[in-house]
Amino acid sequence: MRVAVQGAGIIGLSIAWRALSAGLDVTVHDDNPARGASNVAAGMLAPVAEAYFGEADLLRLSLASAARWPEFAAGLGEVGYRDDGTLLVGRTGDDLRELARLFQLYADWRLPAEKVDPRALEPALTPRLRGGLLTPGDHQVDPRRVLAALRERVPVSATPPGKVDVTVVATGAWTGQPRGSAIGLPGGGAVVGLPVRPVHGEVLRLRGEPSIRHVVRGYIDGKYVYIVPRKDGEVVVGATTAERGFSTRVTAEGVRDLLDTAIEVLPELADYELVEARAGLRPGTPDNAPLIGRLDPRTIVSTGHYRHGVLLAPITAEVVTSLLLDREPSVDLAPFAPGRFS
Ligand SMILES: Cc1cc2nc3c(=O)[nH]c(=O)nc-3n(C[C@H](O)[C@H](O)[C@H](O)COP(=O)(O)OP(=O)(O)OC[C@H]3O[C@@H](n4cnc5c(N)ncnc54)[C@H](O)[C@@H]3O)c2cc1C
Repeated sequence: MRVAVQGAGIIGLSIAWRALSAGLDVTVHDDNPARGASNVAAGMLAPVAEAYFGEADLLRLSLASAARWPEFAAGLGEVGYRDDGTLLVGRTGDDLRELARLFQLYADWRLPAEKVDPRALEPALTPRLRGGLLTPGDHQVDPRRVLAALRERVPVSATPPGKVDVTVVATGAWTGQPRGSAIGLPGGGAVVGLPVRPVHGEVLRLRGEPSIRHVVRGYIDGKYVYIVPRKDGEVVVGATTAERGFSTRVTAEGVRDLLDTAIEVLPELADYELVEARAGLRPGTPDNAPLIGRLDPRTIVSTGHYRHGVLLAPITAEVVTSLLLDREPSVDLAPFAPGRFS
């Protein structure tokens, strides 16, 4: 069976890799490969810290994918997979109340989380912190290394597909948006009617000698920031959230807020080199969960992964490959049906 995957982000490339391994004839088509949200993402694999009220189906999918990440990463070589866990830290009374609310949610859902003194685990954090939680099962990976490894394993073409049996739509925030691109896919590649929208997010990349091992998520005076330390000295600081259409402009205010809050949490960052400031477009959906399923006998959709596309890549690749092979997926896809909003 010949399969065209439309979109070379982490979702499209992961699907292609798994489908190729299953013996299918697959090519990915994208005139600007690996330059979308996946290239900007921090790479947190955080089913617990990202768990939120009312998102139980998404949590189940996230836990299933997190469990698959070690094997997925091992198959790709050195991609910065790190399992040191995640620390959630707070400073003011309101910050601590937010952490307590999350802790109760994790307890209700029996997710692994414990109350800790953040500075006992990471002495370089500011002494002004007053409480913290550890979610030991929340890990990280370097998405740029993942994209590079996938591109070595998967054929990517900048031209439109010829005749294929099935098309997999993995065009992220651009799904539903005729891009008028040179690639000339039908309708500019759009699947009209799918409620996917771009959600703007800014991240910074700094370089130094991080003395922390854990991913740190700071709730500081009502502001939120995360700090992701890599073994190679890169530290990713993110992320803002805004509805700005398809603009990927980085604003001075966004950068200032991220730096102020991150340095407040981890003072050593003030001496780091600021290497990059970028904005990416998360593919958002009305219920924050992805759209995965068959649209018609020759079209499968896999998009709308919003804040979780890196985390969800292994399970998405697995279930879409099952659909391509006409096999029962390992998880119930009903909550993620592309037509659930119509
Ligand atoms: C600031 C930020 C931080 C994030 N941090 C995390 C994180 O820590 N952990 C996590 O799990 N997730 C994170 N995310 C979310 C994650 O990045 C996305 O969910 C994920 O990258 C979506 O992957 P994708 O392959 O669907 O989309 P993209 O990576 O955006 O790829 C879509 C691709 O489709 C192509 N395309 C578009 N239209 C067409 C067309 N007509 N024909 C062919 N190709 C087309 C584009 O060129 C692009 O290459 C973050 C996102 C942002 C913005």
